[in-house]
Amino acid sequence: MLAGAAISRDLVLVGGGHSHALVLRMLAMRPVAGLRITLVSPSSHTPYSGMLPGLVAGHYTFEQTHIDLARLCQWAGVRFIAGEVTALDPVARRLSLAGRPDVGYDLASIDIGSQPELDSVPGAREHAVPVKPVAGLWQRWQHLLQRLGALPPGTRQRIAVVGGGAGSVELALAMAHRLARQPVDLELWCGAPAILQGYNTGARRGVMAALARHGVAVALDARVERVEAGRLQLADGRQAPFDELFWCTGAAAAPWVAASGLPVDERGFLEVTDALHSVADERVFGAGDIATQVNHPRPKAGVYAVRQGPVLAHNLGAALLGKTLRQHRPQQRFLSLVSLGDRLASADRGPFSATGRWVWRWKDSIDRKFMARFEQLPASMPRGHWGSLPELAAASPQKPCGGCGAKVGADPLARALAELAREFPRHCSPPGGAGDTAPIPGSGAAAIVQSLDMLRQLVADPWLMGRIAANHALSDLYASGARPLSALAAITLPFAGADILQRELKQLLAGALHEFAGADCLLAGGHSMQGPELNVGFVVNGTAIAGDGRLLGKRGLAVGDQLVLAKPLGTGVLFAAHMQLAADGRDIAAAIDSMLVSNRLAAESALAHNASACTDVTGFGLLGHLLEMLGEDGAATLRLAQLPVLDGALAHLRSGIRSTMHGSNAAAGARLGFDGAVDDDLLQVLFDPQTSGGLLIGVAAARAPGLLDALRGSAYPRAQIIGEVVARDPASPGSVRVA
Ligand SMILES: Cc1cc2nc3c(=O)[nH]c(=O)nc-3n(C[C@H](O)[C@H](O)[C@H](O)COP(=O)(O)OP(=O)(O)OC[C@H]3O[C@@H](n4cnc5c(N)ncnc54)[C@H](O)[C@@H]3O)c2cc1C
Repeated sequence: MLAGAAISRDLVLVGGGHSHALVLRMLAMRPVAGLRITLVSPSSHTPYSGMLPGLVAGHYTFEQTHIDLARLCQWAGVRFIAGEVTALDPVARRLSLAGRPDVGYDLASIDIGSQPELDSVPGAREHAVPVKPVAGLWQRWQHLLQRLGALPPGTRQRIAVVGGGAGSVELALAMAHRLARQPVDLELWCGAPAILQGYNTGARRGVMAALARHGVAVALDARVERVEAGRLQLADGRQAPFDELFWCTGAAAAPWVAASGLPVDERGFLEVTDALHSVADERVFGAGDIATQVNHPRPKAGVYAVRQGPVLAHNLGAALLGKTLRQHRPQQRFLSLVSLGDRLASADRGPFSATGRWVWRWKDSIDRKFMARFEQLPASMPRGHWGSLPELAAASPQKPCGGCGAKVGADPLARALAELAREFPRHCSPPGGAGDTAPIPGSGAAAIVQSLDMLRQLVADPWLMGRIAANHALSDLYASGARPLSALAAITLPFAGADILQRELKQLLAGALHEFAGADCLLAGGHSMQGPELNVGFVVNGTAIAGDGRLLGKRGLAVGDQLVLAKPLGTGVLFAAHMQLAADGRDIAAAIDSMLVSNRLAAESALAHNASACTDVTGFGLLGHLLEMLGEDGAATLRLAQLPVLDGALAHLRSGIRSTMHGSNAAAGARLGFDGAVDDDLLQVLFDPQTSGGLLIGVAAARAPGLLDALRGSAYPRAQIIGEVVARDPASPGSVRVA
């Protein structure tokens, strides 16, 4: 991911196999702006198959034979999730993970390899050690080594390997080399008439000689029919005892791939085109063992996964950037290098074969070179990038706004909470239930309410920023009719030296305390950390202002109630204009003054006039917060001309300037109805996100003039009655009618 670019799409790589390791490297060197890449892998290290036998034989260390995916991701700027995918829903574009929430994707790519086929032979799953996952094999191998070391003298162990392909032969030879001086008998059980099907006779002869030299007994035409504890039952009636059984037969696919509904071949492997995406879904790619190229099926081998890597990297980027995808044509034949336990190897390609130490050195240098690509990561990353996602290129170059303009829209939050409330019904408030202020459960009759609010940097002056953030956080309490008791700070400071940090914190907290002192609120402590940019937040709690414990709530509006707004609107667009150097400094100063006006007196007036409902207008704009008060069934009329608006705000809206949140707030415009023509620019004020905005109060019509006078006479000279609550007209689509 390019630093600083907004994320607009998610690419999720499932499995850190050979192809994906290359994809990570290549997309890091040639990034796509706006793309977030996530890798899901059960563990931080993935084995490189070519060196696996060398690990067992003792020629290599664990580190030399494994790619450190966590480190690779850290270098590549990719999110690493240690987890195992258990299901894919291509319609919802979601991946299920064992023991943690689902992960959504725009583009997914699967490179999870294969595992030995265990289920066609009864008892194999219970009694055999599959060679994959390699982590399990490695652990079991270590235990075996320990056990052998502690064997009573005179006892021998029988180790059986079931297979016959290159993997099983290499494994048996590697074990034989490692256990050369141990009291073990090694046997290779091969169901076919010969080992290494598909290899030429020369290579096969070289490998058979190595097996004989290492004392590995090879049984051919020996099909295992059943496995029992400590015993193989063969199809020809023979029985063979074992102390340890390793299973290295034909590859099988993870069942969730077929369960996704995407087309799979007869063994359950994902069918992909030559562009490496599913034959039925261009948003799901696949490579390595788990994928079968329908036009060019090949045996399952790491070499194919490696060759697919660069094409996959190109096609994932190209698919997102709308560029042409490459077609991959895998080789018909490839050079196969089989290690023979000791530092010998055998080469096979078509009719050519060779065995010797030089083949081992050749294989060793190829393998080390491959691994070096993931160990020696370039220190400097490219400055440029491959391209920008189309939606990012189309978006305005405007930097994201600070203050409440940077708030996450209501929709993503509501959707996230709705999904989580289903999973945690007793511990997560569903949307509508979760407010930004909530009573603390069990706090008794004199309920303690608590709230949390935070702001990105809005003004450069830290003292002022502290004041605005504190005032903004306290507004939530006032809107619920509570007076503050105490606050905790949560502050992220931009990276800096210790002295600078301390100076900055002092300024911020002095500003906050200026407000807290005015509100008689204790700043009890807090937490600060460093990060890429300034964020200032406060957890605040308080108790009812009213002596009778009455609180104010967002719900409770009645038909006929007047809607009173205490402070003018327009802070969002003014600060957006300020960032674009389009705002007049005097207008910004007036907006800051407005943000610094406490909502305390407004709350006291609202309570004194028996307000039916109240909220503070912040990130979701006037319309978003009004709709929240009205709920699904309520309706209101608004008089646009009555809206109090800060100087300069309307002019900036007319010139097309918008705060970051404006767009998502404007989606609420679908619930507007119109009584006659309206000024579209003035209408935009309804969507403008506010920082430390005024209270919106619903009050019975008879008490509205008194409330308005009280507000204007205290700290809110621009307070206005801006509309009223009406009965919902079922024939009218809008919840809020605008005139
Ligand atoms: C002993 C042995 C030796 C071999 N030697 C060779 C050789 O010399 N040359 C050769 O070409 N082939 C060799 N092979 C075959 C080779 O191992 C495979 O063909 C190759 O590993 C396939 O690579 P891949 O990219 O498909 O997946 P893999 O390399 O198997 O990687 C898959 C990754 O996905 C992860 N994963 C699995 N399931 C999930 C999940 N549900 N969610 C998230 N992540 C998951 C795994 O942990 C792993 O990290 C050998 C095999 C064995 C057993």
